[in-house]
Amino acid sequence: MSSEHKSRKAIVEIGGRLHERGFIAACDGNVSVRLSRNSVLVTPTAMSKGMMKPSDLVIVDMTGRKLKGRREVTSEIGMHLLIYRMRPDVNAVVHAHPPTATGFAAAGMALDQPLVCEVIIGLGQIPLAPYGTPGTPELAETLEPLVPQYDAVLMANHGVVTYGGDLQSAYMKMETVEHFARIALTTHILGRQQYLEDEEVDKLVAARQKYMGVNSAAPMPVQYSTSTPAARTKGSRHSESSDVLSTLLRS
Ligand SMILES: [Zn+2]
Repeated sequence: MSSEHKSRKAIVEIGGRLHERGFIAACDGNVSVRLSRNSVLVTPTAMSKGMMKPSDLVIVDMTGRKLKGRREVTSEIGMHLLIYRMRPDVNAVVHAHPPTATGFAAAGMALDQPLVCEVIIGLGQIPLAPYGTPGTPELAETLEPLVPQYDAVLMANHGVVTYGGDLQSAYMKMETVEHFARIALTTHILGRQQYLEDEEVDKLVAARQKYMGVNSAAPMPVQYSTSTPAARTKGSRHSESSDVLSTLLRS
């Protein structure tokens, strides 16, 4: 947890980066930081997150009640509070609509294939939560089963949410998700995906524990053991998911 002053400046800076990178348009997205056990600093509603001043941010308690701020809090505050309640290790949440990852979410496709080694080390897999109406408790409910295990989640027909021990790491995960989505999209354009072998994924799991420590919660990508890499082309990519997931290694 960091000081209110530092956190205000950090959220404004991250809002600018999300906007510059095209991860949000108009008044999209929201960013928050946990200030204390019972307070969260969060972006306001109806405002571009690329054009905020530190004084535009709002402080709410863990029930979403406003404690401080001239503006109204984001309507997606319920999602942020759910994540803080379920994950004591999380101190920052970033929600955006980066176009490629949101495209996967709108196509009903998770980013859960073992395609890129760095993504396996950094995030594991990125699951897809079912659709929930923004600004209603339904949105948080769709995320609830995924929050304990994952650090980045695609939200069907909506966007992406990422979170971490600090704002920098939560934001970096958003960049990783969008970058990986672009790579995955390229494999779809090429019409072929060559998954990493199970044993290679295992080595990355070991490396991940070394680099990320025990705080990292996201499971690894689905391990495909029924086909050879050469056979793992476009048509075979939607296969085992939750059954295999439940047996996967966790760090
Ligand atoms: Zn949204």
